[in-house]
Amino acid sequence: MSTFKAPKGTYDLTPPDSAKYLAVREALSAPLKNSGYGYIETPGFEDVALFSRGVGESTDIVSKEMYTLTTKGGTELALRPEGTASVLRAALEANLHKLGNLPVKLWYSGSYYRYERPQKGRYRHFSQVGAEAIGAEDPALDAELIILADQAYRTLGLQNFRILLNSLGDKECRPVYRDALQEFLRELDLDEDTRRRIDLNPLRVLDDKRPEVQKQLVGAPVLRDYLCDACKAYHEEVRDLLTAAGVVYEDDEKLVRGLDYYTRTTFEFVHDGLGSQSAVGGGGRYDGLSEMIGGPALPSVGWALGVDRTVLALEAEGIELELPSSTSVFAVPLGEEARRVLFAKVTELRRAGVAADFAFGGRGLKGAMKSANRSGARFTVVAGERDLAEGVVQLKDMESGEQQAVALDALVAEVQQKLA
Ligand code: AMP
Repeated sequence: MSTFKAPKGTYDLTPPDSAKYLAVREALSAPLKNSGYGYIETPGFEDVALFSRGVGESTDIVSKEMYTLTTKGGTELALRPEGTASVLRAALEANLHKLGNLPVKLWYSGSYYRYERPQKGRYRHFSQVGAEAIGAEDPALDAELIILADQAYRTLGLQNFRILLNSLGDKECRPVYRDALQEFLRELDLDEDTRRRIDLNPLRVLDDKRPEVQKQLVGAPVLRDYLCDACKAYHEEVRDLLTAAGVVYEDDEKLVRGLDYYTRTTFEFVHDGLGSQSAVGGGGRYDGLSEMIGGPALPSVGWALGVDRTVLALEAEGIELELPSSTSVFAVPLGEEARRVLFAKVTELRRAGVAADFAFGGRGLKGAMKSANRSGARFTVVAGERDLAEGVVQLKDMESGEQQAVALDALVAEVQQKLA
């Protein structure tokens, strides 16, 4: 223990658990890599205005949860609270939308920061895998992303998640709905804060979980009744494509999500074993965002899946990922001469692509064998003076317990053959 601890609302990933996180990131991104999405990486911080303009001044993320800082040069930066605005900014900056065919399909993985009240499943530093498909208005693209997220969760073995789906309308029909909703909400008995929200972001009031608010929301106008014909047709097609793909979803007209940029399709993946922080992933279409940050019209759609909560969901379902042992061969030298010879063998094994480790620190046989066991290695290689005099090492199969002498020169080939 040092004097210091991980900051409040954060935690460290340490072995062996960290391997699970790597495997989850890999599983969440694998379907994207297989579907034409290219990898993108952006800085951990951006100009504050990118988020206040993109995500929206009135959202909790921007108004309460951003880590902002002023540099010595006077620039106002924010640690990224989400991925979409940064990825779109980067795509525009690199002119990706002009270089090739649309849509530009991108995936990413990284750390995000929100100053939230920490609780299980809600952290101030968390990790997401995300995908954005930029520059096409095509219901098949919305469906593709939902299908790929579903596939990602399923390959991890998750079952107890549900997909919530909604359409938020577009710039034609949403304002009409917004007016009607505002009119309805203004008649209700609500506190100061919520009243302010009616002006800024009335759809968010629908999200208020407090029973005294929910009670009053019965009979509120529903967006579905206000969708224009184009939005309705678009949404129907997304739903049909999902159904055709065998992806089960629930229509949830209350799903508005906490970011201003969404239009039309919005969706969330919720897991039923996670308590209050049940959203494992979410996303939607953001047809206006590019213009909001000074770019051309580029209708787009994307999602972000939370790595931390996906790991919690695996735990909730009692799923143990089958993680291959990271070490195949563990070498245990007995004596100085063996130390040099086996260290060279370990290097040779590694260069041949075999995962190998070595008993460092010159401990005795007992301690070294303990390390070998803990490493999960399939084989140990032990050698002492007498072995070396005969030009052999002892190769022990840790699964069967069998041990055989193998000529030093034949070791790498022998191990490779046994592992194949
Ligand atoms: P959002 O951008 O809020 O839709 O977040 C997308 C996903 O990121 C969520 O579904 C969560 O899985 C994850 N996430 C968002 N905020 C947090 C947080 N504070 N702690 C852990 N995971 C989070």
